[in-house]
Amino acid sequence: MNAATIPPIPFLDLKAQQARLGPQLRQRLDAVLAHGQFILGPEVAELEAKLAAFCGASHCVTVSSGTDALQIALMAEGIGRGDAVFLPAFTYTATAEVPLLLGATPVFVDVDPRTFQIDLNSLDVRIAEVKQAGKLRPSAIIGVDLFGQPANWPGLQAIAQKEGLFTLDDCAQSFGGALQGRRLGREADATATSFFPSKPLGAYGDGGALFTESAERAALYRSLRTHGEGTTRYEVLRVGMNGRLDTMQAAVLLAKLEVFEAEIARREEIAKIYDTELTGIITTPARVPESQSAWAVYAILLADNAAREHAKSVLQGAGIGHAVYYPRALHQQPAYAACHDGAALPVAEELGSRILALPIHPDLTDTQAHRVAATLRAALGK
Ligand SMILES: *Cc1c(COP(=O)(O)O)cnc(C)c1O
Repeated sequence: MNAATIPPIPFLDLKAQQARLGPQLRQRLDAVLAHGQFILGPEVAELEAKLAAFCGASHCVTVSSGTDALQIALMAEGIGRGDAVFLPAFTYTATAEVPLLLGATPVFVDVDPRTFQIDLNSLDVRIAEVKQAGKLRPSAIIGVDLFGQPANWPGLQAIAQKEGLFTLDDCAQSFGGALQGRRLGREADATATSFFPSKPLGAYGDGGALFTESAERAALYRSLRTHGEGTTRYEVLRVGMNGRLDTMQAAVLLAKLEVFEAEIARREEIAKIYDTELTGIITTPARVPESQSAWAVYAILLADNAAREHAKSVLQGAGIGHAVYYPRALHQQPAYAACHDGAALPVAEELGSRILALPIHPDLTDTQAHRVAATLRAALGK
């Protein structure tokens, strides 16, 4: 068969997922159209209860996006000017954007070269440096569960307790993942996730949620997502925002939650195919011990940038979707250069030139996964 006639393999296939979800999705959306409560309709409360039950958290407050979830969590702690917020340099921009928007200073921390998660030794060093410089108050750690795997939460919590820091889990990519048999959602003082369409549990628009074990925090989050309102709509207790999840997205998520566990299991099967076919040939993703990944991303490491660019062009030629998360560490981005203290973060800097993500959505077939692996092996001459 000529290359042009082989069907392409999409990086993400939301159409196939929609077909698989079947009539439930439309029934859920039709119900919203019928009752017309587009803001904080009954689906929102139903979703919050189901999400909390899913991950074992005491409280769930849905919000308008993963970014707004991070912002509301930091606003609730009063984080702002003079506060140092420690976060990994190798993550999505939103993790660093939010502290800056609130006037706080993100302090970038290096990551582990094999799991890509925040490096505890680097965190210790960065906290000591901030204390030594004496300009900022160490206030919070945002641990990111990158690519679907959990960060080292027992280690992060030990450091946070010693230093008296608030912990926020940026679980945008990893809702559905687990650590030591517990689903992510209660590893930190608060957990923020995202329902952006490409995340493991994706809506058909923007959405997010906060999880916490604290009733006080949950009440604050509810107030903050509705302009800081009090017990009545026209009592404004604090400066908040318009940060609610809309009912249509809650309806979509309720339909998707039904198949979510099966989707994670399917992503795990695809990861195993890639592991089997690629281990020993290129660097496959290291597993965080005692964890289950939600497999938002399956990222391999090529030998160097030239090898990565070659692999990209071969995949491109074969019609195989792929992506680079992230081509640059955050402290190397123009927007964040000015707030960075200049510390070298060598692992985060190098990963950007060698990393490559392969398709791992739940509608990928075994045959497609084998074709991705075979194409990559051929590209590397193996
Ligand atoms: C996607 C993502 C976010 C932001 O989520 P949105 O819903 O797009 O606002 C934050 N942090 C990480 C690590 C993400 O991957």
